[in-house]
Amino acid sequence: MVGQSIERPRRRDAAEGTDSGRREAMRSEPDTGTTRLRCFGCGCEYGYLGSKPHPGRCPSCDSRCVSPAGELVVVDVEQWQSAAGLSKIWVHTIDERDRRFRFEVAAAGDEGKVVAVIVEDTALDPALHPSLRRLPAVVSEVVAHVGVSDLEPRRTSPA
Ligand SMILES: [Zn+2]
Repeated sequence: MVGQSIERPRRRDAAEGTDSGRREAMRSEPDTGTTRLRCFGCGCEYGYLGSKPHPGRCPSCDSRCVSPAGELVVVDVEQWQSAAGLSKIWVHTIDERDRRFRFEVAAAGDEGKVVAVIVEDTALDPALHPSLRRLPAVVSEVVAHVGVSDLEPRRTSPA
């Protein structure tokens, strides 16, 4: 009975603990059936069964502000750095429904934190949407490439 409650987080760790494991988990996800999606407009979570990528539109409120459809592609990276070693990184991506996702990371040295995710023209606060604190693999790779390898969600376990 105790074993059952700890089984889930442990399985996630195993799948996401390493870069290769995480990538593999993402690649195999579309084959496992229902995709869990989240609408940042009305806050609902919904499942999608059907041909990929999903339509990128919330079934209840019609918002386009939902989880990325298919793979994100990085189209641009901007970086600002202060003399004190503080930096900001903006990773511009598009999903397979041509929606723009912009990830804003604030960093001090190699430690970074996602401070905003802008979907189309709507800025989302990761403090209000805990699922946004975990960057998609393609984005965290870019962020690591510019020198920020220690992102907050990896240090703290997801709530
Ligand atoms: Zn909605």
